[in-house]
Parts: sequence; structure tokens; C-alpha cells
Amino acid sequence: MDEDLTEATHRPEEHVSGGVPSWLAAALNYCSRCGAALRFGSIDGDHRERLACSACGFVAYVNPRLVVTTLPITEGGEVVLLRRGIEPGYGFWAQPGGFLEIDETVREGAIRETLEETGLLVEPGEIVGLYSRTQAAVVVVAFEARIVGGALRDNPEALEFGTFAPEAIPWPEIAFRTSTWALRDWVRRVRPDLHPELLRELPAV
Ligand SMILES: [Zn+2]
Repeated sequence: MDEDLTEATHRPEEHVSGGVPSWLAAALNYCSRCGAALRFGSIDGDHRERLACSACGFVAYVNPRLVVTTLPITEGGEVVLLRRGIEPGYGFWAQPGGFLEIDETVREGAIRETLEETGLLVEPGEIVGLYSRTQAAVVVVAFEARIVGGALRDNPEALEFGTFAPEAIPWPEIAFRTSTWALRDWVRRVRPDLHPELLRELPAV
């Protein structure tokens, strides 16, 4: 094994991270342009240390990915959630959503993911919130969305579907913090009277 490669794969945790979650840093060992080892350190003209190629100088910028989600709302004012059939969060409730593809807009991604995971055709409306989770290296956007067509449809990503009134959200069974945050912000909008009680019941995040 060549020396550069050894260094690249055995960097101390605190050195590797540089703010990059360790699970993500573990996958960033080689230059995507020339294949040489990446090194973590100072680069010209930047205020922070970065992963850069030891051979060609290519800088491997690491940025969060955008997860596009919707809160599909029924005519009766209930939110449609799915019980996740895949990890992470298997068996817990979440809103439909997924990673934005490189060739689609945020709204297109939200519509596509909702259709794939629920069978519902939605029209995204206002953004309920935008949430950072640095450890997961994601930013999650949640749209309130009107259901304009389609029908709930079984698929591998959902064990079952549920519709929940604002006062009936199954808080302890929500899959992700970002889902909890989005649902909390939605409830605040539609049922501000529930808000103080809700905040007391929510786990610390
Ligand atoms: Zn390179």
C-alpha cells in the first residue's frame, strides 16, 4: 500500500472530520478527478481546511444534500404520513420525501418523491420549514402540499399509510427529528391553540 493511501485512510478522527461527519469522511479517500489520495489541510484562499488532492490539487468540497419532502394534506385537514418500510427509521412514521435529483427543481423533486412513496399527486404550496441536520449532512425542506390526484398505493418504502389530524400526530413514533420539526411547525400554523401543549410533550432535540 502506498504511503499516501495509508495516510489517507488512517487519519485521526479529529483531523479527518474538519466538520465533516465521520461516516461521510470515511468515503472520501481519493480524488474523483485523478484517483490520488486526498489530504485534509489548508488550501490557498480559503478560510477553512479542506480535503484536497495531493497530486492535482482538486478540492473535494463537501456540502449537505437537499432532501425534499411534503406534508400532503387531505380535504379534511389531516396530514398523510407513511410508516417507513426501509431504513433509516424503519417502522416509524415520516412524511414522503427523498434526495433532490441533479436535474430537477425543488418542487419537481417534492412532487416526484411524494408520488413514488404514496401514490398521491400533490401540488406543493408554502414551505413549512427548512431544517439542517449536520450529522446527517442534509438540509430538509418541507412543503405543505394539496392532494390533487392519485390514490394511496402500496410500495416497498411504506408499510402502511395514516392520516392524522394536528392533535393526533403520533409524536413518539415519528422517524426523524426533521420530521418532528416539520410537523411541529405545521401544527403551529394550522392549530396555534395546540402549540403550548405540544411543546411540552416533545422530546428535547
Ligand atoms: Zn487529483
